Amino acid sequence: MAEHLKKVVIVTGGSRGIGAATSKLLASQGYRVGVNFRSRVSSAETVVAAIEAAGGKAFACEADVSIEGEVASLFDAVEKALGPVTHLVNNAGRLFPQSRLVDIDAARFNEVLTNNVTSCFLCSREFVRRVKTSGAIVNVSSVAARTGSPFEYTDYAASKGAMDTLTKGLSLELAEQGIRVNAVRPGFIYTDMHADGGEPGRVDRLASQIPLQRGGTPEEVARAIAWLLSDEASYVTGSFTNLAGGK
Ligand code: NAP
Repeated sequence: MAEHLKKVVIVTGGSRGIGAATSKLLASQGYRVGVNFRSRVSSAETVVAAIEAAGGKAFACEADVSIEGEVASLFDAVEKALGPVTHLVNNAGRLFPQSRLVDIDAARFNEVLTNNVTSCFLCSREFVRRVKTSGAIVNVSSVAARTGSPFEYTDYAASKGAMDTLTKGLSLELAEQGIRVNAVRPGFIYTDMHADGGEPGRVDRLASQIPLQRGGTPEEVARAIAWLLSDEASYVTGSFTNLAGGK
């Protein structure tokens, strides 16, 4: 393929859950994929091996995307391995154990914001500085931005609300340049993140309260991300797609 036609995507947090499903789907669609991870190298290597076994091209790259210097290094490393970055999925996110707001300390609150929002800001800024014209960004927000996650994760919900606002502002700043920015808002998806929140079985517990009566799969979220990233969505920017079974 001619160099200028290559699509190179960075999926932050591409090593697990929604990010892993997105990395694999995008690779199957011809993207070269920078599979970013923060700490679990074996998860990232497993995703890359699966992509390569299916004939795709991917590169596992460690970086804490909430740290400015590591974001620049991430983009440098992916460009060196795969070529100039053309697309970005801001998927990395963290969840801490369920707690009422009154019991959350400032250190945790700031940690959640840094991991979920500053990371999105830093990666988007790096992308825009390098890409300049055309391309697309998809931010992985959450239904929590709308519900507020009372008694469980108000810090996390606030971070996703901020991510939605960043999506809106950046989409308007970049529209004239032809860079589209959209967000997906997953709801109750079967991933290991819920164990980090202290309740591995959370999705099953809530299933009966979801209009579609079930949790979602990472692959269902990945398909929406891939569509928003693609030229099929060429007239879509500043949008929010809820993937929460009707919630
Ligand atoms: P997950 O299975 O816990 O995976 C999280 C991924 O993010 C991992 O690859 C992790 O890498 C990476 N990560 C976390 N902090 C990072 C950082 N600072 N720098 C780089 N990588 C970082 O989570 P998931 O459920 O797939 O969630 C993915 C996204 O969807 C998150 O933004 C989450 O908020 C959102 N979401 C999920 C649900 C759900 O029900 N699962 C619902 C709504 C929204 P390491 O493993 O190496 O740390």
